[in-house]
Amino acid sequence: MARRKIVAGNWKMNMTPSQAVKLVEELKPLVVSEDVDVVYCVPAIDIVPVVEAVKGTNVQVGAENMYFEEKGADTGEISAEMLVDAGVKYVVIGHSERRDYFKEDDVLLNKKVKKAIEAGLTPILCCGETLEQREMGVTLDWIRLQIKSDLAGVAASDVANLVIAYEPIWAIGTGKTATSDQAQEVCGAIRDCIREMYDDATAESIRIQYGGSVNAGNAAELFAKVDIDGGLVGGASLKADFGKIVNYK
Ligand code: PEP
Repeated sequence: MARRKIVAGNWKMNMTPSQAVKLVEELKPLVVSEDVDVVYCVPAIDIVPVVEAVKGTNVQVGAENMYFEEKGADTGEISAEMLVDAGVKYVVIGHSERRDYFKEDDVLLNKKVKKAIEAGLTPILCCGETLEQREMGVTLDWIRLQIKSDLAGVAASDVANLVIAYEPIWAIGTGKTATSDQAQEVCGAIRDCIREMYDDATAESIRIQYGGSVNAGNAAELFAKVDIDGGLVGGASLKADFGKIVNYK
């Protein structure tokens, strides 16, 4: 069975609550699609108003981060249960900005993935190499290490439903997109890695996005690749172009 495409916007630290509601209203007619799952991953403070604003549409809401503990003395953090109760369906885990600026390592990310799944959220698990790693020829080794560590101890039935976003760090917010062949090579290797760790059915079911300067002009070519099941979109998710990416065909 063909995998359903999923296009998710990662708003990063943009949009106040009132700006967020305005953007949802502007995008409403543009992101209608019967074939593609559409997700807005929004800052924590925007979750409640955005969940309200997308009611009755085809859009689902994601968080950009969460903590793995259930509750307690973790000042400033947000739990998976809080997200679920607020109406969130997806959560971005392991974005390169969190790995880099906030020093999130694979041990922590593995705990977050497990907790998200236990709470009923779908992780959008990010992985990706630096330019230096690509030039050293270790991209696939690095990505496999990230995937294996982040999914350690996660059951096949849960992995089948999650989303992995391959985001080369050198392509995020830089305007430098990976070529569709480069993106396909890594997304295909991620699927092979899942096949090795689990089985064929899990590998064929998991959805793998490409992220890194996706825009209205390159989405169709990227999403046409056999192992690319949509995109995680940063900058272009904050403008009307996002509708063109969702309706890339
Ligand atoms: C991202 O933030 O995950 C991302 C891919 O950003 P951009 O599309 O702006 O490169």
